[in-house]
Amino acid sequence: MPKYTNKYNIPVEIIRAIENDDYTKGNADISVTGLIQPPRIRVLQDINKDKITSDYSDEVWKILGQSIHTIMERANESYEDTITEQRLFADVSGWTISGQTDTLSLADNTLKDLKVTSVWTIINALKDGKSEWEQQLNCYAWLYWKNTGENIHQCNIIALARDWNKRELQRRGGDYPESMITTIKIPLWSTEKQEEFIEHRVNLHQQAEVLKQMGEEPPLCNDAERWKRNDTFRVMKKGRKTALRVFDSMNDAKKYCVNSDTSADLSIEHSLGECIRCTGNYCGVAEFCNQFSEDVNE
Ligand code: SF4
Repeated sequence: MPKYTNKYNIPVEIIRAIENDDYTKGNADISVTGLIQPPRIRVLQDINKDKITSDYSDEVWKILGQSIHTIMERANESYEDTITEQRLFADVSGWTISGQTDTLSLADNTLKDLKVTSVWTIINALKDGKSEWEQQLNCYAWLYWKNTGENIHQCNIIALARDWNKRELQRRGGDYPESMITTIKIPLWSTEKQEEFIEHRVNLHQQAEVLKQMGEEPPLCNDAERWKRNDTFRVMKKGRKTALRVFDSMNDAKKYCVNSDTSADLSIEHSLGECIRCTGNYCGVAEFCNQFSEDVNE
């Protein structure tokens, strides 16, 4: 169990609920959620498991998710048209992987995964997609095919917006979700693509495991894994503190300067995009990560 602090006097009943987390990857080398995670995060979590400290207040969202899952399972488990919380296993490149599907609607072979999340995550997922959800559900679809020989026909995320607000819907309208629950259709890959993806991820994690055994640095996280924002190019004017304009590319910033009447007074400042997962410690291991500390010291 991780070490916890209690900075905000969370009551003991809630603490017991947080510590009563029964999540397990079963008798497997890696779960689907572990598989889609960057290998560096998984290895650093493993190496530092006795040192990682978290505050109870940061874990409350987990019991919200668990309670909804439990209620859903209880309500659906006696229906023959739905399979709930099914754990599936398969062997890939010498490792056993496991994944637990939330619900499977047998009438139309639709896999549904419940997420308790924020309104902004839902808005962004509807606009741009969300690669983690797409990868996770396609891994489950492959596991189901591998275990039953049957193809999944559709994958949905049932997103429950924990911060949804009716007044905000009336005020903002537009892309704000119309209900606290949004069903998001996830692109379904071919079985070949699913299998290729899973094999690739297993290989990456196996390589990271070898480096760990040898006491070497785990593979670096890439920009996407670090949730890196775009670099910005700020056009500054002599004698002015704030930027005249901010561009996404050096070329656009240069074009602006060349076409300006005061180009002699202008300069361009390049700001590196922030790596949100590192700076916000959303991986939980930022304090143990050389890749991040080297970035900070640069
Ligand atoms: S701090 Fe950043 S680079 Fe390091 S493990 Fe976390 S996400 Fe990856």
